[in-house]
Amino acid sequence: KVVIRLDNVTRVYKVGVERIHALDGVNLELRQNEYVAVMGPSGSGKSTLMNLLGCLDRCTSGVYELDGYDTTRLGAGGLAHIRNTRIGFVFQSFELMGRSSALKNVEMPLIYSRDGWWSRHKRARHMLERVGLGDRVKHRPNQLSGGEKQRVAIARALVCNPSILLADEPTGNLDSKTSEDILRLFDQLHAEGQTIVLVTHEESVARHAKRVIRMMDGRIFTDLTSEEDQARR
Ligand code: ADP
Ligand code: ADP
Repeated sequence: KVVIRLDNVTRVYKVGVERIHALDGVNLELRQNEYVAVMGPSGSGKSTLMNLLGCLDRCTSGVYELDGYDTTRLGAGGLAHIRNTRIGFVFQSFELMGRSSALKNVEMPLIYSRDGWWSRHKRARHMLERVGLGDRVKHRPNQLSGGEKQRVAIARALVCNPSILLADEPTGNLDSKTSEDILRLFDQLHAEGQTIVLVTHEESVARHAKRVIRMMDGRIFTDLTSEEDQARR
């Protein structure tokens, strides 16, 4: 099953009279349960690509289909709905609500679901258990370690059962041991069927993915299996 299809997508920023082709004719197909790392130098278009995939931004031309829906035909409300129900985001800086418990943070996206409060509570609790935080539900972010905070963020990203998990440098703020723990959790989620796209600067992080996309000047420069990509280095 195809989850994501980009057909000749461009994203042009206008800065004064200058036009910056942040994405310049990107074609991409991602199937369910793929685990993809996006790499490339600063300015190559990784953030722009992630913002488009996450429906935080629109392409200037081309087509973006998610789960077979043409998102380029949707208005702002339609895009927001897709973002809230089909996309899970994880950030380098966690972006948790600091005054709320782990459980409240994970329940938050479920306000867009039709579930009642008890069902939301149960789903959030179950998700925290799946990421190994069953004993931390009442803790606030400042009472959690960096790795635990990122687990809360991952639980929040997945509680709506999104079609795709988008992670932007998810281990960028973590020490190497904690990073490995988080990457093992991603491996586990992949084994359970989750589709994952992560942006990273680190080869050791990209090695966990099954497919490695390298960008350059707004284009996909190489798109290889992890083994092929490693053999080319
Ligand atoms: P990253 O470290 O993830 O690559 P960047 O430093 O490229 O992030 O960009 C951080 C934010 O600044 C992004 O939201 C991006 O859209 C915005 N941004 C990047 N370059 C420019 C620019 N030349 N003008 C305005 N905003 C920019
Ligand atoms: P990366 O994430 O790989 O660092 P970005 O997607 O942030 O790359 O940026 C790609 C190009 O688009 C860069 O030249 C950047 O300066 C430019 N850019 C990104 N965001 C903006 C923006 N909001 N306004 C103008 N230019 C931008």
